[in-house]
This record gives sequence, C-alpha cells and structure tokens, in this order.
Amino acid sequence: VLRTILRKEHCISRNQISPGALKVTGVLQQAGFSAFVVGGAIRDLLLGLEPKDFDVATNATPEEVRALFRRSRIIGRRFRLVHVTYGSEIVEVSTFRANYPINGSSMEINAESHADQHGRLLQDNIFGSQEEDVMRRDFTVNALFYNPATEEILDYLSGYEDIEAKRLRIIGEPTQRYREDPVRMLRAVRLAAKLDIQLDEATAVPIGDLAPLLQNVPAARLFDEMLKLLMSGHSLACVLDLRMRGLHHGLLPMLDVILEQPLGERFITLALENTDKRVQEGKPISPGFLFATLLWHEVLAAWNKRQANGEKPMPALHLAMAEILTLQRQQLAIPRRLDSIIYDIWTLQPRFLLRAGHKPFRLLEHPRFRAAYDFLMLRCESGEIDMEVGQWWKTFQHADTATREAMLLKET
Ligand code: ATP
Ligand code: MG
Repeated sequence: VLRTILRKEHCISRNQISPGALKVTGVLQQAGFSAFVVGGAIRDLLLGLEPKDFDVATNATPEEVRALFRRSRIIGRRFRLVHVTYGSEIVEVSTFRANYPINGSSMEINAESHADQHGRLLQDNIFGSQEEDVMRRDFTVNALFYNPATEEILDYLSGYEDIEAKRLRIIGEPTQRYREDPVRMLRAVRLAAKLDIQLDEATAVPIGDLAPLLQNVPAARLFDEMLKLLMSGHSLACVLDLRMRGLHHGLLPMLDVILEQPLGERFITLALENTDKRVQEGKPISPGFLFATLLWHEVLAAWNKRQANGEKPMPALHLAMAEILTLQRQQLAIPRRLDSIIYDIWTLQPRFLLRAGHKPFRLLEHPRFRAAYDFLMLRCESGEIDMEVGQWWKTFQHADTATREAMLLKET
C-alpha cells in the first residue's frame, strides 16, 4: 500500500536538496515526465545525515533525459544511466527499472512480454513502472521517493517506519534477493554500520548460509564494494560485523588470515581505526595504503618463510610481495595502478632499520616517505617492531641537519 507522507509529517525541506537535483527533477517534470529524488539521499536526510550525492529516478528513457540536458551523457553498458552536470555537481538519473535476475538466479523471465507490458527492453535494461522500480531496490529505507515539487515522500514499503525504528529491512524474500545479488549482503553490513541501525531479523538470518555465494561475484564488483566498505568511515565496525556473520571465510582471505593472527589482528585494528578517523575528519585516504596494510601480515609470513629457506632478504621480500598480490588478485581485483604505491610502502620498510651513514637522508627524500612512515608507525604501535624505531624517525624527520647528524647510529 502506498503511503504519501506530507510535507508537515516529515523533516526534509526542499532547500536540503542539492541545486542539481532540484533542477533535474524540475526540468523533467516540466517536460511531462515524473521525476523523484530517491535512494540514499532521502534516507540520509531523514536520519539527520548529510547525503553524499543525490540520485534521481524518472520514467523518461536515458535518450529522453539526454535530450533535455545539454551537459549530460549516457554511461554504463549493463545498466544505463544519465549523468547530468549542473555547476560542479553531477546528478545521476536512472530510468524506472523492473527487477530482473542479476546472476546466480534460477528465475527466468520472458523479456519480450515483460517489455510489452511495462516498458521496453534495451540491451540489458528492462524499464518498468514506478512500483516495479521500488521493488527492485535493495532495502526499504532506500526505496523512498521524494518529490521536490510537492515536498511529499512516496513510501510503498513502510520504509519510513523502518527509518523511525532504525531497522534495515531487505525488500522481498530475503534469500531470493541475496541470491539475485550477493553483494547485497555486504551492503547490508555497510549500511547498518554507517547508519547506526540494526538488521531486521529476517534480513540478517540468511546471510551466514549464503555467504559462499560471494565467490561468484565478479572480482571487480567485489573490489568496488569492499573499497566502499573500507572507506565508509566505519570500516572497523564493518569488518567485525563481517566476521561475526561469517562473511569473511573464503570471501576475503586476507581478513581470514589476518584476523586470526594475534599480531595481525592488532595491526589491522589500528589500521582500520586510523582510516576511520581520517574519513570522519574529512581527510583523504589512499586505497593503496589501505591494501598495503591489509596484506602486510601475509607478506611478512611469506617473506619469513622464504628467508627460512635461505633466500636473501631483499629478493625474498620482492618475491613475497609479488606472490601475495597475485594470490589476492584471484579474489579481489586490486587495480594495477595501486601496485606502485603498495610496493613502495612495503619495500621502504626495511630501510627504516638502516639508521647510519647517508641512508636515512636518502629515505627522507623518497616521494613515498610519508606513506611509508605512517605505515611504519602502525607497525610500531601494533608491537611488530620496537617503538624506539618509530620515535627515532619522528624526531629525525623534523630535526635540523646538525641534530640529524648526531642522531645517526654507528655503522655496524
Ligand atoms: P551510499 O551512496 O550512501 O553508499 P546508496 O544507498 O545511495 O548509499 P548507491 O550505491 O548510491 O547506494 O545506490 C543508490 C540506490 O540504488 C540505493 O539506495 C538502492 O535503492 C539502489 N541499489 C544500489 N545497489 C543495489 C543492489 N545491489 N540491489 C538493489 N538495489 C540497489
Ligand atoms: Mg548513493
């Protein structure tokens, strides 16, 4: 049953909507289409959070949207959207869709008859009615439609009540919806942590059993989702929740291994806390640094093993790094462009132990010194290496030349 929540019944006012989203919905409505602000933005505003971006849903096709806005372009192949640029803002406009199985679903649909009834089929896009668009979304709190013109919210699935109750509830039959798209399990964990709300019982229950389905998710998609989770500002809460629900077994071998080593767990906890703090302070974080920390203890283990087999330290480190990155790539599509920062952070680590002669000065000048030093500090704080080393570098980098010279250790 559709519930219309009137302006006086909810807390969102039009001036909280971004200028771009107001413009886009306005132009579409002027042209005779329906258009709403949807998804995360409405949910965030109702919860008193600041939306990251504003998405618009409409019954206009991507081509029709494209024709209305000069600064717009169609993006995406499987799921075509229009990006409309307004000032420095980009508004994502999606056409109402019907639900269709994404992957791993046994459910077959007859695309042609579906299109006849509800819209048209274009590549893999099945357009649908507004009601269908509500049903294909993931959680009820993400399925609220806000009309800036009337300032009313359309709520088909009691999403508003769920927000008031601080409850994350999946739309439809939970098992089927997770089968259609296992990434929804990760989204559930991430959204619950970010929004500080609880998973509804029926939404939570199937997750443990269905976790293995994540192995069928394309690596690139898994990577994007994991990155969102790790950069959400609540990565530690998410990771602990993933572990509690059994979502890391086999899915994220790095978390598997790391969370089970006493030293590794301390290290990862510090790294994630550090990341969360930076995100919450609005500071930039580098995915390269993050992955360097997540994989470090695996590299250490591989490195030690090689040295125990008689390999020389530096060649052994290089081989260990390549080995671990290759292994992780099978599961997570860590982009190649991150390789150079990850490798630099790791290979600079042994150099922090060389504190005599010219070497410390050369290390200071390395373009990735800062990242490598932050990484060193995590190692010290986790107890992997003596804090004295970190303290030395902390002083050394800010000291004048005379002090630096005096600090150098004797060549051994
Ligand atoms: P945030 O942007 O804060 O991470 P969001 O809910 O806006 O959260 P997006 O990835 O921007 O997340 O997705 C926008 C909307 O698209 C969601 O609110 C949801 O309605 C829908 N959606 C996203 N991913 C899925 C999915 N895997 N299955 C079904 N619907 C989805
Ligand atoms: Mg969003």
